[in-house]
Amino acid sequence: MIDFAEIRRRVPLRQFVESCGVSLSEDGENWRGKCPLHREKHGASLLIYPDDRWFCHGKCSEGGDVVGFAQAFWEETDLKHTVQRLLGEGVEISQQSNRNRSNVVAKSSQKWPALDSVRIRELVEPGWGLYDLWERSPVKFDSSESHAEQIIDILFPGDPFLCCGWTQYEFETRRREPWRGELHGLQFIVPNPMLEMQGRTQGKRLSQHAKESTAARVYLTIEFDFSEKEASEIRGKRQKERQEAINQIAQEWHQKGISVAEACSALHLDLARRLPLVLVVHSAGRSLHGWYYVYGQADQRLLPFMQYAYSIGADHVTWTRSQFVRMPDGLRNGRRQSTFHFDPSQAVRL
Ligand SMILES: [Zn+2]
Repeated sequence: MIDFAEIRRRVPLRQFVESCGVSLSEDGENWRGKCPLHREKHGASLLIYPDDRWFCHGKCSEGGDVVGFAQAFWEETDLKHTVQRLLGEGVEISQQSNRNRSNVVAKSSQKWPALDSVRIRELVEPGWGLYDLWERSPVKFDSSESHAEQIIDILFPGDPFLCCGWTQYEFETRRREPWRGELHGLQFIVPNPMLEMQGRTQGKRLSQHAKESTAARVYLTIEFDFSEKEASEIRGKRQKERQEAINQIAQEWHQKGISVAEACSALHLDLARRLPLVLVVHSAGRSLHGWYYVYGQADQRLLPFMQYAYSIGADHVTWTRSQFVRMPDGLRNGRRQSTFHFDPSQAVRL
């Protein structure tokens, strides 16, 4: 059963509409903007009411809640899929706590470069891979049991607050010690400590997973995603093009017998020449996630690294410092998110 009230609470309509690229201005107690559902050019027929409902007084002449808006905007036919997407992206939206309007504009105009297929092939085709990552790892875990506790002790010394999740929507922030014994069963962790137990989300709701209460970056994680998807299901011209290029590369690798994990290894080995690589975690899907040590570095200096990573196939969501990433040696649907590479000498020191 879908709990619509819960979804509306998690994904505030106004923030969601803004995240779709609509700029809203105050109109009495309502908000008003150009309706993206009928690609409105003149006028501003979309109204958002204080009770989190919308109505297009123009061509659409329809309205509803955030779920209906998302479904129409994404042109989704499957309600369940819409809800899943909404909750996935809703977490992102609620993480943009205390972000004022000018920041939102700055974020959306932040340029993420196009995929550099030539560079990706250059890096992957020489055949560097998993074996090299493993070989170069100062710590090699040879048993199949979880070393999550040991890894987290080294990544986060000094009993800081850590935000960890069983799922994207079930999470808690506790000091490190109260987590002891449970980490091996968890899927997610915020790769930076939390400043306090909870903070306010943009919707002014108290949450134990808010960007506001996330400390400065200690680690920047890079997640590659080379899974093939229907480009026609992707919204936005640039994103469509990116997905088409990714599909082509993934098919080439498939024909050449290069696994996605091998390819990701080669890409992380390249990134590791730019920033200290602390660990590499297998997503228990097909991807490998790298943790890079960045403490004390300003975002201005890190952004070019992130942009380069994006150009060779990384997901940019991990640029948000409160974004959940895979728990090292945690568990995903019964499968171990194994740590392939671990260099404690590159981790933070107190
Ligand atoms: Zn409309």
